[in-house]
Amino acid sequence: MTPLISYYEIETSGQVSELHLYNLSSLDNNCKITCSAGNIVGENESTVLLNILFPPNISKLSDAYQDHHWCIPFSMSGNPKPELRWLLNGEPVIEGPYIMTMIHDFSEREYHGCLQLDSPTHINNGPYTLLASNKYGQDRKTVDAHFMRNPFEGGIGGPSSTAMSFSQVYVVVGIAAVAFTGFLLMLVMLKFGGNSKFGIKGASSVISNDDDSASPLHHVSNGSNTPSSSEMGPDAVIIGMTKIPVIENPQYFRSNSMLKSDTFVQHIKRHNIVLKRELGEGAFGKVFLAECYNLSPELDKILVAVKTLKEASENARKDFHREAELLTNLQHEHIVTFYGVCVESDPLIMVFEYMKHGDLNKFLRAHGPDSVMMGDGPTNRPVELTQSQMLHIAQQIAAGMVYLASQHFVHRDLATRNCLVGENLLVKIGDFGMSRDVYSTDYYRVGGHTMLPIRWMPPESIMYRKFTTESDVWSLGVVLWEIFTYGKQPWYQLSNNEVIECITQGRVLQRPRTCPKEVYDLMLGCWQREPHMRHHIKEIHSLLLNLAKASPVYLDILG
Ligand code: ADP
Repeated sequence: MTPLISYYEIETSGQVSELHLYNLSSLDNNCKITCSAGNIVGENESTVLLNILFPPNISKLSDAYQDHHWCIPFSMSGNPKPELRWLLNGEPVIEGPYIMTMIHDFSEREYHGCLQLDSPTHINNGPYTLLASNKYGQDRKTVDAHFMRNPFEGGIGGPSSTAMSFSQVYVVVGIAAVAFTGFLLMLVMLKFGGNSKFGIKGASSVISNDDDSASPLHHVSNGSNTPSSSEMGPDAVIIGMTKIPVIENPQYFRSNSMLKSDTFVQHIKRHNIVLKRELGEGAFGKVFLAECYNLSPELDKILVAVKTLKEASENARKDFHREAELLTNLQHEHIVTFYGVCVESDPLIMVFEYMKHGDLNKFLRAHGPDSVMMGDGPTNRPVELTQSQMLHIAQQIAAGMVYLASQHFVHRDLATRNCLVGENLLVKIGDFGMSRDVYSTDYYRVGGHTMLPIRWMPPESIMYRKFTTESDVWSLGVVLWEIFTYGKQPWYQLSNNEVIECITQGRVLQRPRTCPKEVYDLMLGCWQREPHMRHHIKEIHSLLLNLAKASPVYLDILG
């Protein structure tokens, strides 16, 4: 390295010498200063590297170019390493999977990188300002970036042309008219839509997250409940390179208005419920097998599963009733049947149809190659599931999801642990609460009470808490993977932090050994990074149905 130091002095007093350097610049950084001392007996030397602190300097900010992604390239220096922020048209650019700052290289005492944009449109056009700051100062530079012509701007002449054809005028007028009508409709819905199921469509942007124990099943109207940028502010954790916003209990976003005002929840008398044995432990209390008498005139008694609510605070009771109304409104052959509640005394009880073979995850493990390892002795070892049985299971879950999507419900926690298996391999989506106690390693705690099933979540849910029908489709892909691995935990070989890194960087689960190509292709279609590129839920269902039909299931194998 060429020494650039222009002026120095050595001050010696007794045994101590001091070297004073003057007129240093950032270019002198990392220069080696060697001190040698010698006398008749010998010589010694010692070396230090110069560490010069200086404010940021942006030496280059150039026009955007495209290779794999779009890139606005920059070079800058500063010590300590400057923090970078971007403005577009003077407004902060919120970074995420589609727009992010990447530093590729540190050479010639400078950092070189890009603002990387994935498929930008005309909305991303404009002046980009790079702000670099550290505790010694700040620097900024601006460059104009132009990615795509605005489709609503004038003819072939490009963005500068102002001429509009008649048809374009019609389009613009049409869009304005539709937007205005939409706005009026929304005002009307907000005013009158209060409790009506259809009123929610316009009004569900009013989302409450005040409840702590409710279901993760969610009604969405706009297909999204992304937190606002203010919600992503101070409460964020940095995991690896990924900034994850922490929102108080995002699992439980829900709109109060999602329930029909006229929902009639059936009340069952306590003396009509006779408990038989414990089935399992849920997040809110024990689950029992019971006999239920006089449920309907034509039935004397039937077997049911009852879920108890152990701690019934005022809030928990409210949630319990809302949950019951919600469940009453969900009726489909692949959603577990909800019969009603019993609230005469504590504990509060919810009564469901009994599904003989319990949860699907345990069922898959019990019917897989590791079932001996899982504790079933070799003598009573159940037969392994066949491919056609797996398809039959998958097809039924997809049918349940088609129904939920048609009701504009987003499940947010679709996984085999939340599905139930009945007689003749009948499978239903059976849980809209969290089975966390038993499966706590499937969830990732991000702060306070918030537990997230990250192994089932797509990048946009992990990074922005965006949960939609499309994110449910991603989870359905993971459910397919669980089915074809006989209930393995997705990414079982990785820690939670590693899973987050993996998913946000675009890695997907590998094809299970027993999985046919068509089914793995389907999984890949569920795991497209862009939510709108993922398969539609109806498409997935009909593909699975066709595959299942092509290889009929011999149900009697399972008895
Ligand atoms: P929670 O939703 O409160 O967490 P779960 O639904 O996970 O509770 O129930 C805990 C366990 O109870 C399940 O793993 C399953 O084995 C059993 N279980 C729950 N519901 C039923 C049902 N309808 N039929 C049979 N077993 C059930």
